[in-house]
Amino acid sequence: MKCFYHHMTDAVGICKNCNRGLCPPCAAEIADGLACRGVCETEAAAVSKLVRLNSRFVSEGPRGGTLCQGMGIAAIVAASPLLVRIFSSRAPSAMAIVPSLVLFFGGVGVFLYGWRINRLWRSTNTGQSGAAQLRR
Ligand SMILES: [Zn+2]
Ligand SMILES: [Zn+2]
Repeated sequence: MKCFYHHMTDAVGICKNCNRGLCPPCAAEIADGLACRGVCETEAAAVSKLVRLNSRFVSEGPRGGTLCQGMGIAAIVAASPLLVRIFSSRAPSAMAIVPSLVLFFGGVGVFLYGWRINRLWRSTNTGQSGAAQLRR
């Protein structure tokens, strides 16, 4: 495989963000891999940060899920009065609608994500207690 930016040079790795081949001068080292220097560095770093955050929530176990749900509820609660005010006004401005909708649906998304983590943990826990019951 050749470098995406230098077609004559052999690639030493692949960008985490865009999966293009990279030669040593083009490869920027990030937390857990390589990224196109100056092109994908920030994106790739953000992605790996998000993945780490996700795995932290999951590894936190049921507590992580509850934390997620709490954050989601907090966002929904914060967005609700804004939405009420927007829809009770005669001429709501898009400037006000968009951020509060993003906050609201972001909150719903985070809440559901937490719920999924909790369910995941509950199912593994029942699996374990099921096995324990069999042993008894
Ligand atoms: Zn290159
Ligand atoms: Zn890239």
